Amino acid sequence: MSRIVYLNGEYLPETEAKVSIFDRGFVMADAVYEVTSILDGKLIDFPGHMARLQRSLGELGIRNPLADAEYLAAHRRLIEENGITDGMIYLQISRGNGGDRDFVFPPEDTPPTVVMFGWNKPGIADNPQAQTGIRVITLPDIRWHRRDIKTVQLLFSSMAKMQAKAAGKDDAWLVEDGFVTEGSSNNAYIVKNGAIITRALSNDILHGITRAAVLRFADEAQMTVEERNFTVDEAKAADEAFITSASAFVMPVVEIDGATLGDGRPGPVARRLREIYLDESRKAAI
Ligand code: PMP
Repeated sequence: MSRIVYLNGEYLPETEAKVSIFDRGFVMADAVYEVTSILDGKLIDFPGHMARLQRSLGELGIRNPLADAEYLAAHRRLIEENGITDGMIYLQISRGNGGDRDFVFPPEDTPPTVVMFGWNKPGIADNPQAQTGIRVITLPDIRWHRRDIKTVQLLFSSMAKMQAKAAGKDDAWLVEDGFVTEGSSNNAYIVKNGAIITRALSNDILHGITRAAVLRFADEAQMTVEERNFTVDEAKAADEAFITSASAFVMPVVEIDGATLGDGRPGPVARRLREIYLDESRKAAI
């Protein structure tokens, strides 16, 4: 069965959704995106994704072509038309068709290109990896310095992931000036003596929507949170570690550059945060 996707106001079979070769997203990676999880047919953290979308567009001077309510309606229609119970919806907005390849932006009235599509990912909340944890390698963070803008310029993140796979591991943590920035597509945390340590928000990392929710829940559960830089050595000596993202939720990390954390099994803080995050997010899903 062909999936139904959204393109500039139309709902089409995926094979009929066509974008110009001159689209700025295609030739310049001049586009931003959001990925929202769906649990039980409902959207997780949707207002947070809308707020970050608006910010990413604003930072790049791309006009936001739709109202939040229109994005919500489109997300719901894609969930409905594609029968998604547990899965994801991807949303991308580019600066539109520039009519040619040019470093100069196209005229202000050029309509942005809006694409949305979803997919089923049965059992995402019961991912067996959460029981065993993941293993990461570290790599130098050579990305540009506006990582707070969620652009589709993901080549290095993709290469980092491939390098982790080639090393027989699951993912890569990126390191700059001796400190961990974030994972290839997630935010990174360590736990030491009960304190949850994660890099503070800046242009160096993506402002994770899952990060914001998890830190809020940790605070409400009276856990200690320290937003500060941490080194790879500190991470290797941590009691536990984990990552967060809209697709992985809270995922324990049990090995960093070959060093096993604790007893090599997911730690209690990561397990508890995953449980709280899933419970609370389901309750607040729309
Ligand atoms: N950092 C990076 C580099 C990412 O790509 C992502 C996920 N897209 C995240 C962090 C996590 O963000 P979120 O919790 O909003 O999915």
